[in-house]
Amino acid sequence: MKFLDQAKVYTRSGNGGAGSVAFRREKFIEFGGPNGGNGGRGGDVIVECVDGLNTLIDYRYQQHFKAGTGMHGMGQNRTGADGPDAILKVPVGTQIFEEDGETLIADFTEVGQRHVLLEGGNGGFGNAHFKSSTNQAPRRANPGLAGEEKWIWLRLKLIADAGLVGLPNAGKSTFLSAVTAARPKIADYPFTTLYPGLGVVRAGSREFVLADIPGLIEGASEGAGLGDRFLGHVERCGVLIHLVDGTQEDVVGAYRTIRGELEAYGGGLAEKQEILCLNKIDALDPETLAERKSALEHESGGDVLTISAATGNSVDAVLYAVLDVLDQNRMDLDDAAGAATREKWTP
Ligand code: GDP
Ligand code: MG
Repeated sequence: MKFLDQAKVYTRSGNGGAGSVAFRREKFIEFGGPNGGNGGRGGDVIVECVDGLNTLIDYRYQQHFKAGTGMHGMGQNRTGADGPDAILKVPVGTQIFEEDGETLIADFTEVGQRHVLLEGGNGGFGNAHFKSSTNQAPRRANPGLAGEEKWIWLRLKLIADAGLVGLPNAGKSTFLSAVTAARPKIADYPFTTLYPGLGVVRAGSREFVLADIPGLIEGASEGAGLGDRFLGHVERCGVLIHLVDGTQEDVVGAYRTIRGELEAYGGGLAEKQEILCLNKIDALDPETLAERKSALEHESGGDVLTISAATGNSVDAVLYAVLDVLDQNRMDLDDAAGAATREKWTP
């Protein structure tokens, strides 16, 4: 399986707190008796499916999740506090596997699902618990139970939010590697996006998944069964980045060719909003650049960004334009959902 975003993490639930051995000692009260409280429970390790995440990228930065230890019990029958839980937040579509990478533990399909992966150790009983008619002053208390530990794999099938289109040589691969290499590399950490035409882009504090769409189209024609999976990417894409090689004479022709292919492919690809970029401006003199830019503007009837994927010039502007469109799409969806509920409320 390709298109996987995966991360291996270590989890550990909290140890229970120890029970306490204590006796009630107060003035004028004889035979006060045992009053050592129980220890608190250790925290659980919980995996929770939340809204607003697209990738497992956060697990590149934190790979160890330990729940808190329960506090020990104390005299006067005070129970120790429970240890805090460790909560792993994951996006919809995440699957959790055992360390072997094959045994499925949990499959998250909707927001709000929770799975208790490891339970915290129980707290030990304090000596008050061991009081009996035959032993009225027990001096024994239990230690808390130890927590458990486990390595797990988190896996998510990535779906592209944005697609890259353009003729061969337009600079798509260069663009993809420029924007996805902006992430810090953590060399020996097993986070991988196995398919080379797909990457996670981080722009400021945001992230989205970018795919090379012609790559997908070529792939789709390769074999049976593959097509549907690629089509999923195409459908989910909210926006296209269309790259035109600025060093060729006929930029308008290149633009038209790709528009034609998008129409021919179907799947709603041609109707998606497009961010049009004239690439390789590092290799152009200012006059040629201005001329080709205005020719493209005239042809497309919209704005044209001028960029250089190779030097990184203005690449950020493209990323922020993508985020704007994604936000706009999301707001439109929310509006549509809002309108639907408003209709329901009308008597
Ligand atoms: P793809 O076929 O669309 O994936 O295009 P590539 O990313 O493989 O790029 C094709 C060629 O254009 C390569 O030789 C790149 O080095 C070159 N190239 C890509 N972007 C730029 C750029 O911004 N400036 C210059 N001068 N060359 C570029
Ligand atoms: Mg390429």
